[in-house]
Amino acid sequence: MTTLLAALKQSVRGRVISREDSDYDAARALYNGMIDKKPLAMARCVDAADVVAAVKAGRQHGALIAIRGGGHNGPGLGSCDGGLVIDLSAMRSVRVDPAARTVRVDPGCTSGDVDHATHAFDLAVPFGIVSTTGVAGLTLGGGTGYLTRKYGLTVDNLLEADVVLADGSFVTASAQQNPDLFWALRGGGGNFGVVTSFLFKAHPVGTVYAGPVFWDAAHAKTVMRAYREFLPRAPEELGTFVGLKTVPSTDPFPREHWGKRACAVISCYAGPIAEGEKTMAALLKAAPAPLFNWMGAMPFPAIQALFDGFFPKGLQWYWKGDFVSTLPDEAIDVHIAQAAQAPTELSLMHLYPIDGAVRRVARDATPWSARDATWSMVIAGIGTEPKQAEALKRWGRQYWKAVHPFNLEGAYVNFLMDDETEDRVQATYGPNYKRLAGLKRKYDPDNVFRVNQNIKPATS
Ligand SMILES: Cc1cc2nc3c(=O)[nH]c(=O)nc-3n(C[C@H](O)[C@H](O)[C@H](O)COP(=O)(O)OP(=O)(O)OC[C@H]3O[C@@H](n4cnc5c(N)ncnc54)[C@H](O)[C@@H]3O)c2cc1C
Repeated sequence: MTTLLAALKQSVRGRVISREDSDYDAARALYNGMIDKKPLAMARCVDAADVVAAVKAGRQHGALIAIRGGGHNGPGLGSCDGGLVIDLSAMRSVRVDPAARTVRVDPGCTSGDVDHATHAFDLAVPFGIVSTTGVAGLTLGGGTGYLTRKYGLTVDNLLEADVVLADGSFVTASAQQNPDLFWALRGGGGNFGVVTSFLFKAHPVGTVYAGPVFWDAAHAKTVMRAYREFLPRAPEELGTFVGLKTVPSTDPFPREHWGKRACAVISCYAGPIAEGEKTMAALLKAAPAPLFNWMGAMPFPAIQALFDGFFPKGLQWYWKGDFVSTLPDEAIDVHIAQAAQAPTELSLMHLYPIDGAVRRVARDATPWSARDATWSMVIAGIGTEPKQAEALKRWGRQYWKAVHPFNLEGAYVNFLMDDETEDRVQATYGPNYKRLAGLKRKYDPDNVFRVNQNIKPATS
């Protein structure tokens, strides 16, 4: 009988990387340096045929299979210990159709790859706020970012996906073809197959009015209250999130503010610059003078990549999330008290708005059920040293425990670590979980794709 490695090497055109290879450690390294997984083999696929071959070889040899898009997942669900990683990172082409305003995206692309390609045509697809994040995992989980209020979640802009299913067959999913699979893909994560190509709707976005405004944490309560009142009235062109963080002790931040606890509002107005300035003026008027206001006109890909330099690959990350409906003063007090105990400068809490266009899509139209929430919260303990891992986890858990009573039960699936219970995954999908479990039984009855926030196949 052939080994998994031999079978992969015979059938996959891309490189097959194993423990024998000198670049094994570099190839298996994930974005989150806290996660250290050692797969048996990584099949670096170059096309859909490679993915078919890899899925078949993995199944024939009874291997645990993980799917790797951008490798940015918090708990490292793009890899596994002792199994096969279907690594899509070599599939990175983007093709824009400016007339149809659509974009065909390979599954190894980062959102920066797509922003770069679409910006040439003054177009953009709503993705997240760090441009090194993989499009595949972000999209399959839902996807929130600066354009969400105006154009919806990333999944609301997905038109079609090519998918290799658990039995190795290849299908296209769209509103017309395999619509039930198309439904499941728009939030159900990597549970239903390996997506080998995405087709997105793009929108007219070129130069934006964007950037961060930081206040001293002493004003955090005033700023968070002002932001809370401002958000529902702000035009949907404005994507704006509030966060509690620390002014990084590095250039280009003003030296006199290095290491200060801060409250920040980070925004992107995708419309005329003057209207962006006018819109933000209303918030700035309601708050005290900031430490600094770095908003200005910039190309959309610039705001998308603004934080990339602060978050290189290999940092330690511990995530906790929740959907949030309201932000009462008592919750603000808890946030401020907990954020003040952050163990590192990089650690943060962000509240991303999921209102506007998100709410115009029915709750059962996609698996993302929290259409009536106002924010998706993330608490991220982030550090540079492995020895900080325990402190980051402790802080994240303690912060979440204190603030969770004010929040909804579920969380954005891409903000869950691997220490969450099955109940949390179910709460995340709410009333849509049952349909997801039924479709899991139809498309992946043996739960081949289980290295994810798993949806168990329905038993009856
Ligand atoms: C710095 C940072 C910033 C972030 N900001 C945002 C943000 O602004 N908005 C937001 O919505 N999210 C954000 N996220 C979360 C992000 O959406 C998730 O980390 C997501 O999992 C990343 O996708 P990936 O392809 O890079 O991940 P991977 O680790 O490659 O994969 C993640 C999961 O997706 C599955 N998967 C990957 N590719 C495929 C595929 N082709 N077919 C089927 N399943 C697949 C995997 O099985 C795995 O379960 C951020 C993450 C980081 C680290």
